Amino acid sequence: MKTKMNIESLVPYEVMTYKNVIRLDANESAYNMDVNIFKSLNRYPDDRASELKNKLADYLKVFPSELVIGNGSSEMIELLFRTFIEKGDKVLGFENSFSMYKVFSTIYEADYITVSNDYVMDMDELIRTAIYEQPKMIMICNPNNPTGYLISKCDIERLLKMYDGLVVVDEAYIEFSEGSMLNRLDTYDNLVILRTFSKAWGLAGARVGYMIASENIVSSVLKVKAPYNLNALSQQAALYALDNKETMAENVRAIILEREIMERTLDQLDIKAYKSSANFIYFKGQDDLYEALLKKGVLVRFFGAGRFRVTIGKKEENESFVKALKEALVEIN
Ligand code: PMP
Repeated sequence: MKTKMNIESLVPYEVMTYKNVIRLDANESAYNMDVNIFKSLNRYPDDRASELKNKLADYLKVFPSELVIGNGSSEMIELLFRTFIEKGDKVLGFENSFSMYKVFSTIYEADYITVSNDYVMDMDELIRTAIYEQPKMIMICNPNNPTGYLISKCDIERLLKMYDGLVVVDEAYIEFSEGSMLNRLDTYDNLVILRTFSKAWGLAGARVGYMIASENIVSSVLKVKAPYNLNALSQQAALYALDNKETMAENVRAIILEREIMERTLDQLDIKAYKSSANFIYFKGQDDLYEALLKKGVLVRFFGAGRFRVTIGKKEENESFVKALKEALVEIN
């Protein structure tokens, strides 16, 4: 069967399935929420996830009508494309950012335009490009995956003042940082914020993510959302997590502390590592470092051309990574 032309160039999202390795490649939390839930599975889940939506709205201090909840923030990104993007529309983002923005642009036949960034994300350049290209939607990952760079709120606000298309701020890692755009939602009705339970909340396996936006945007998105998109177990898992937000905060504090230790260690090893506002660190090294680390049982993310990202795990995992890294550096040099 012939596939659609525009998806022929795509390759499936690659997920490393190694067993018995220290997994520092996918920015998950090393801390488990320990949820035990099996109830009412004979029924379909609550289509609107109302109980979860109400609790989440309380936590975020927004209205439930400003929320869409679903299968990870990945589903939220796709819903935005499905709702707003037509063939040939322009979508603008940064080049070195979350890969799925480009993938969904390809699938939905949009023209994905990028502003280059190695580490620093130049908002002046993004604003200039937005004014010149007039994209339908702008994707900003803040803090940015994979670099950990944080754009200031006032820089994002400068964009919002100049541009009235959709501005999507993907805050998947915001719990490790400050500077959420949440309290600007009332001011800008073209602002969409994406969040997830996969990172700080430690629920990557449950696949729960959400969108916060004006009621107008939410009601459009709900028109295309598949029925029962978030299963009952995951709804319960997220409710449980929200009841234990102090645990999340403690885990986040531990990860930030470990991140600071890791930043200092990488610096001592003369590795060019960048300041991060998330639960991972972006660093530069020789390409063969990837295999050398893997042979020692540590999986990091390699982006090619000497670019790596290591997730901050538990203390003992980070120490194993540093030990493997020191040995690997000796071997490959
Ligand atoms: N946004 C960003 C920036 C991410 O890094 C990820 C996961 N890697 C996602 C969205 C998707 O996360 P999920 O679907 O698990 O919520």
